[in-house]
Amino acid sequence: MARLPKLAVFDLDYTLWPFWVDTHVDPPFHRSRDGTVRDSRSRTVRLYPDVPEVLRLQGLGVPVAPASRTGEIEGANQLLELFDLIRYFVRREIYPGSKVTHFKRLQQKTGVPFSQMIFFDDEKRNIVDVSKLGVTCVHVQNGMNLQTLTQGLETFAKAQVGP
Ligand SMILES: [Mg+2]
Repeated sequence: MARLPKLAVFDLDYTLWPFWVDTHVDPPFHRSRDGTVRDSRSRTVRLYPDVPEVLRLQGLGVPVAPASRTGEIEGANQLLELFDLIRYFVRREIYPGSKVTHFKRLQQKTGVPFSQMIFFDDEKRNIVDVSKLGVTCVHVQNGMNLQTLTQGLETFAKAQVGP
């Protein structure tokens, strides 16, 4: 079995869901009678389809956490709750600013070294910043899916057996 990371971190906007929570949808959110999650204008809000399965990574003993720089902190947390994702997360780091801060806090609070973390994000600037810490970073192209997860884990495992 390939070596697994000790913490997997996911961005939110355009990584777990296909929108910017501070721009494209209108909080507060709610669960409607038909079971869908909707915003205050009754527009349906969805995750990328593979996301619940991706986060079951936690079932393999890999703790999972979101790191988002959104200013819509309350809305983002509300969506995580409505989508029933909170149970997967050991911590949540959701606030504006460089993701270096999010990772330093994750490191302090979990005790996991940067070299044992993997990070998935759609924005190049975050990948650039967080790579410098020594975290294995994966640039997400069309939202998080199982293929991207597998490729990321392979990249992580290869990085462990270096010279
Ligand atoms: Mg994003």
